[in-house]
Amino acid sequence: MSERSTNGAQRGHAYILSSPDPEESLRAARRMAAAAVCLRGGKEPCGQCRHCRKAQAGIHPDIITLRRLTDDKGKQKREIGVDQIRWLSADAVVLPNEAERKVYILEEADTMNLPAQNAALKLLEEPPAGALFLLTAANPALLLPTVRSRCAEVYLGGERSEADEESRELAGAYLKAVAAGDRARLYAWCAGNEGLDQAHTAAFLDSASELVADMLCGRKPSRLDRKSLLALSALLGRCSAWLRVNVGIKHIFGLLAVDSIAGAETEEKTIDRSR
Ligand SMILES: [Zn+2]
Repeated sequence: MSERSTNGAQRGHAYILSSPDPEESLRAARRMAAAAVCLRGGKEPCGQCRHCRKAQAGIHPDIITLRRLTDDKGKQKREIGVDQIRWLSADAVVLPNEAERKVYILEEADTMNLPAQNAALKLLEEPPAGALFLLTAANPALLLPTVRSRCAEVYLGGERSEADEESRELAGAYLKAVAAGDRARLYAWCAGNEGLDQAHTAAFLDSASELVADMLCGRKPSRLDRKSLLALSALLGRCSAWLRVNVGIKHIFGLLAVDSIAGAETEEKTIDRSR
């Protein structure tokens, strides 16, 4: 278990627990929730006290789990909606029933839609005293950077490096095609990747944004000028935002195919003029 803490607090009020395996992050969240209400107050639940026993049985009144709702046909909805977060915000200011604090587990928090994330942000910015929020996520990149910055991130499981590597490779290939100003190559690359799923597309956009940021501040070499890099950075940011509001992945790669080279073209024109 590695912790990439953004606030460094051992007893923080919000955590993102991420793992490619949703069961694993949920188990970790439940363990942390039990430890938070445990009478012994240790890092791990004692498993013996009445709070731990209730937590284990899933009946602790101060451990509240929020997950995607099901529709009338019993099918789970695609998103956690803003009403659910509003409910949570109202509940979080009510004093706990039995324990010293209330714990909220937001299962698959990365399925919160944008209004829900904005509502969650308000809550995380001004958390009610003692409340603890545990967000599980297969892909934290789908959460707003502002939401992530309010939480300590805990990564569970060992497959991220591989997934990271994959998205970095994708980002590298994309930027090479852009820097070469080779429209045909970029089109082919985009067409070849429009079958990616949402999580991989989000991870790719994240990696590409990071790479462009590294190029902008000179940590990585680039053939693109500053203006082109800024335009690319904005384009990638827009694509990430669109992905979060469920714009289709084909559309996103279509936009990247059409708009990415505009910056490179500008650069060529600038060079032409200067000749
Ligand atoms: Zn206990």
